[in-house]
Amino acid sequence: CGIVGMVGKDLTIRKLVDALKKLEYRGYDSAGVAVNSRDGLRVMKAVGMISSLEKLLGDDLDSNVIQGIAHTRWATHGGPSDFNAHPHTDCTGKIAVVHNGIIENYDVLRLDLEKKGHIFKSVTDTETIAHLIEEHYSGDIISAVRHALLDLEGAYAIGVVHQDHPDVIVAARKGSPLVVGSTGESGFLASDVTPLLKYIRDVYFVDDGEFVVIRPEGISISRMDGTSVRKPSTKITWSE
Ligand code: GLU
Repeated sequence: CGIVGMVGKDLTIRKLVDALKKLEYRGYDSAGVAVNSRDGLRVMKAVGMISSLEKLLGDDLDSNVIQGIAHTRWATHGGPSDFNAHPHTDCTGKIAVVHNGIIENYDVLRLDLEKKGHIFKSVTDTETIAHLIEEHYSGDIISAVRHALLDLEGAYAIGVVHQDHPDVIVAARKGSPLVVGSTGESGFLASDVTPLLKYIRDVYFVDDGEFVVIRPEGISISRMDGTSVRKPSTKITWSE
């Protein structure tokens, strides 16, 4: 399982899918992408190999997009299927989430969200995160994700995009690996450095309990309580 995210210049869906392929070694049963462009937020996903996703995307692979997140899933809650594949969306379809890990208290959260009127499309633990962010959203996606994370128990590396905030990807880590970086023109996230080597050499290894705002022009890392984290980047010297 793995996650990838990119925001900024010269981005195509193919770049996201190629980056995802570098994470295939981690194992998976389905794959998907959520991309933001002038047409709004679009989510495409398919059970099976990444090649099935590529078939589904066809010529769309070369479409230019402003931002995107991508995922290979190793199912823990809900069998492998198109519906259960990530990214997962909220009721408005404007928020998309990729997640590696397990949300332990998803059943309690889901019941509560369903009582508040949220309608779920999958049986995953992950979809709960998308609806929880929607519940906390009132115009500021960064603050909405931060608040949603306070309710979660379990392990995660997540990447979140919102249709109305095409310049930012919000990410966080607790128990699942996450690497981020920026060239000054494009921002990136991934489960490990291999998908990023083509684009950047200076990366930040995100630690447990850290929250990251990724923009094309740079990365900002903080703790869940909002205090900022200053840490050195790591220069990757080995080649692809
Ligand atoms: N628990 C999530 C699911 O089953 C994420 C699994 C993963 O890490 O790929 O959908």
